[in-house]
Amino acid sequence: MDLGIKGKRALVCASSKGLGRGCAEALAEAGVNLVMNARGADALEATAQHIRDTYGVIVQTVACDVTTPDGQAQLLEVAGQVDILVNNAGGPPPGMWTDWDRDDFIAALDANMLTPIALIKALVPGMMDRGWGRVVNITSQSVKAPIPVLGLSNAARTGLTGYVAGTSRQVASAGVNINNLLPGIHATDRATGLDSGVAAQQGISIEEAAIQRQATIPARRYGTATEFGRTCAFMCSQHAGFMVGQNILLDGGGVNSTM
Ligand code: NAP
Repeated sequence: MDLGIKGKRALVCASSKGLGRGCAEALAEAGVNLVMNARGADALEATAQHIRDTYGVIVQTVACDVTTPDGQAQLLEVAGQVDILVNNAGGPPPGMWTDWDRDDFIAALDANMLTPIALIKALVPGMMDRGWGRVVNITSQSVKAPIPVLGLSNAARTGLTGYVAGTSRQVASAGVNINNLLPGIHATDRATGLDSGVAAQQGISIEEAAIQRQATIPARRYGTATEFGRTCAFMCSQHAGFMVGQNILLDGGGVNSTM
């Protein structure tokens, strides 16, 4: 399928690895020029060069922390006007509901709610002026069904989801579509990190922890960054113009619900 976005320009945050990288690669495959970001410059540049070599698109890189005002300013300066924004950042740490104090919540809100909102506020007005735009926020299945050890994620991402539900309906008439893409468990460094925590807690190997978690997913496996990225690219495509304020869950059936 031709996604109809060849030659468009996208800012893909937190994209040197994992799900963000999957989104960047799928957009590049569709002919979209990219501004990519991560904190670590080496991995970011290596991924950017791979994408340039493979897909022949223009890729600019900005090594910074997207969750800080300074990082956002650096990103926006290089990005200028973009047609597509993919919001992403690292997820908050796991723990017990009693573990976190105010500063922990502020950090989680900054990373997973206020950062995407700041970038939406900065970039969507230009998209509206030009009559076309797409925003995809990478959130989590925790928005649909809370994950007990990820209380910070449950809280911050649900806040973003409420903001998007209201905002997306105010900008859709200008040709700008804002939606959320909700990962269930995907085979990335983040998943390995969570498996390592379970392995240490239960005195089992990381592989055993992964097998245990895979057994809880109806698809009996983790998702891949490629599957995730291609779904994101579709949500950024011409064909997704009637999708407004939706929460698209990619979880192998992990969330047990009818709707
Ligand atoms: P990952 O494999 O750990 O990759 C994270 C990427 O984001 C890396 O490129 C990392 O590079 C970059 N990054 C992290 N923090 C950043 C920051 N503050 N500023 C700029 N770049 C940053 O993670 P992932 O699995 O792709 O997860 C992506 C998001 O989806 C996370 O919020 C995660 O919580 C959420 N999620 C993931 C899963 C899953 O199973 N994988 C499930 C549900 C939700 P640097 O470290 O160099 O900055």
